[in-house]
Amino acid sequence: MKIYLDGQLVEKADAKISVFDHGLLYGDGIFEGIRIYDGNIFRLDEHLERFEFSAKALLLDLPWSRAEINQAICDTCRANGLRNGYIRLVVTRGVGDLGLSPSNCPRPSIIVIADTIALYPPEHYEVGLKIVTVPTRRTNPAALSPAIKSLNYLNNIMAKMEAQQYGALEAIMLNDQGLVAECTGDNVFIVRKGRIYTPSAQQGALKGITRDAIFDIVEDLQIPIEEHEMTRYDIWNADECFLTGTGAEVIPVVALDGRQIADGKPGSIFKQVLEAFHHRVRIEGTKL
Ligand code: PMP
Repeated sequence: MKIYLDGQLVEKADAKISVFDHGLLYGDGIFEGIRIYDGNIFRLDEHLERFEFSAKALLLDLPWSRAEINQAICDTCRANGLRNGYIRLVVTRGVGDLGLSPSNCPRPSIIVIADTIALYPPEHYEVGLKIVTVPTRRTNPAALSPAIKSLNYLNNIMAKMEAQQYGALEAIMLNDQGLVAECTGDNVFIVRKGRIYTPSAQQGALKGITRDAIFDIVEDLQIPIEEHEMTRYDIWNADECFLTGTGAEVIPVVALDGRQIADGKPGSIFKQVLEAFHHRVRIEGTKL
């Protein structure tokens, strides 16, 4: 496997960065997870825009243009013959000293990994996930904007481990007010009386690229959708619930916190959305 590292395509075994890189020492850096379907990189420009916003929020000057990053991603996919898979774009603050200050890190490092992806086990797309709400809260925007896809994912990792302690593959994370924000790596949607609802960025949801695609898909399907505050109660009593994310795509949820959602089976709106999503990812996107 070839990895793109600072302008070179190198073998996986040679793709190494310094132990003084602040990405390692402090989680100081940013990333994107991107999918490629049948040679189409899904919403690459949207991912690169979000990436630039994350960089700007962290005062991390990217010394590459969007076109150069785009090229690096395409080159990495081609070098690995990857037409279906997952692309991880990472920029670290770069090599510095043991102090916190990025001013001693003259140059960020860029990494592109293009690999296959392990989705949730396939049966869960048929029968749905049973998930739980976990104690670890979504990052408080007053402390650190949850919109930044930084290399510090510790509270999401804590939440993931808490989910696993309860035998669940994903977890609902609440914000500081106790409202539903999102999951550890997925956005959450519910359906109630034919309308779709999802928490807003203000409530702690990452503005997911898949989430954005769902807004476009349901507009085409003429299903009303809106951002709305959501409590656990709203999910327990929803007609349907599903999650979206680059890795997960669109996956149904059939129980939360031991409460079955509706009849405990993936719903009809979920099925329409999933079908439309599968269609869209193969026709939309940056062709390799
Ligand atoms: N929330 C979090 C915390 C995430 O890390 C992700 C995955 N990047 C998502 C939601 C889903 O976003 P996307 O559709 O862009 O993958």
